[in-house]
Formats: sequence, C-alpha cells, structure tokens
Amino acid sequence: MNNQSLKALKGFLTLKYKIEVLTGLHIGGSKESIEIGGVDNPVIKLKTFRLNDDKFLSDVPYIPGSSLKGKIRSLLELAKNKPVDRFKKYQKEHEKDFKWDKAIEYAGKPCDCGECEICKLFGTGGDKVKEPIRLRFSEFYPTKDTIDMWKTYLGEVYTEMKTENVINRITSTAQHPRHTERVIANSTFEGDITFRVFEGDGKELIETLEKGIKLLEKDYLGGSGSRGYGRVKIQLINVEWFPTEEKYKVDDLTKENFKEKLFKKVENA
Ligand SMILES: [Zn+2]
Repeated sequence: MNNQSLKALKGFLTLKYKIEVLTGLHIGGSKESIEIGGVDNPVIKLKTFRLNDDKFLSDVPYIPGSSLKGKIRSLLELAKNKPVDRFKKYQKEHEKDFKWDKAIEYAGKPCDCGECEICKLFGTGGDKVKEPIRLRFSEFYPTKDTIDMWKTYLGEVYTEMKTENVINRITSTAQHPRHTERVIANSTFEGDITFRVFEGDGKELIETLEKGIKLLEKDYLGGSGSRGYGRVKIQLINVEWFPTEEKYKVDDLTKENFKEKLFKKVENA
C-alpha cells in the first residue's frame, strides 16, 4: 500500500475581474460569416448577447475565456523558463539525432509535468493528470457602459476597422492593404476566474495567477501585440467564496483580505 490519496474539494472561490482595453484589441474570429470585400481579419463575436430582459443584440465582441487562459499560462511558463528546460530535455534525449525544428516544437509546447503550480492551476493534457485543475475561466462580456459607448461612437457595428500596409522598400509606397477588425480602446469587459480550492492549497497558487495577470498587463492580449494592439489593464473587482461544507465558511471576505483569511481558515478547519 502506498500513502497517496486524492485531495478533498473545499470550495469555489470566484474572482471577478474587469478588463479595460487600452489599445485596439484583436482576438480573431471566424471568417465564414464575412461577406466578400469585407474584413480580412474579423474579431470573435457572440451571435446574440442579452442586454436586458427584453433586448438582445447580435454580433457583439467578447473576450473568450480560452484566450485569457492560454495567454496567462504561456506567459507564466515563459517566466518560469519552462521552454528552456524543455529544450534541454529534448537535447539530452536526442544527442544523436538532434533536429532544431523538432527541438523548438517540443520546447514551445505547454508544460505537461502534471506537478508544478502551472499544471495544478491550468491543467495537463493526456495521461499525466495528477491533480484536479484548479482554475475555471469564464468568457468576458462587455459592460453596459461599453455597449452604450459603442452605440454612440460606432453605430450598429461595435468595432473599428484598421488598415495596414506593407511599405515597398524602394518606392516607399503602401501595398497590399489588410483590413483588421478591432475592439476599440476604452472598452471594458467583465467576467470571472473561479479557483477550486482543494485540501492543502495555499495562497501561493493565487499569487501565481496574480503574477500571470501582471505579466499579461506588461505583454498583450490577442494578435499583433508587436504593433501596439491588445494592451489591457486587469483589475480584481469582487471575490465570492462558496464552501463545500459549513466548517469552511468564512465571513467578511473582501478582495483585500481573502488570501490571508480564506486559506488560513480552510487549512485549519
Ligand atoms: Zn507542469
């Protein structure tokens, strides 16, 4: 008999965030619905969006949870030098048949150790799963104020069109214009990241998530970040705790005190 066991779920910590778009944001959508002569690069949109009880809007831009999750994860892995470690591992295992392109492909894949903080938070593919995934990302939807702003300044199409060219090096003329759709600066989206707290989890897991969010603010969301797109500001606006048992209940949690208060209580309950 070994002494390994699965960990008990203690509750759901829902962290509500606001994402402010500081520069035009492009998260790519499907080209299928675009008519000929339209945009080359549309943004992803909701077919229908419920504004209030009796009003629906169509083709409303949003930020998919998967985009946020993927970007935060990749930045955390970069910051932890995961690609460097994976590259070295490949080098070691392929001393005789080393191929640069295969090494880069391997190094660039997500961590799949199943044990590190990043795997605990974001999950591991395939058969290396060792623990339940802690984080759940919701989709991020535009706020009511943002919809009003889009209607005022953009009309019924809630995006801007950005045209970019390639400059001919000899003649300095612009060629091959490409039309990219973007969510405009000053738009705000809201959604949440739910953290499933298991036995033994401490605030360091939340701090890893927070570090990832800080890195994202230094980097960019969506496409064309090297050309100024996708700068965002992300703020925690509210926290909610739903314990699985009465003994894990914590009163008066706020976004300021939840890390200290919650994990202390859950550990000692
Ligand atoms: Zn890992």
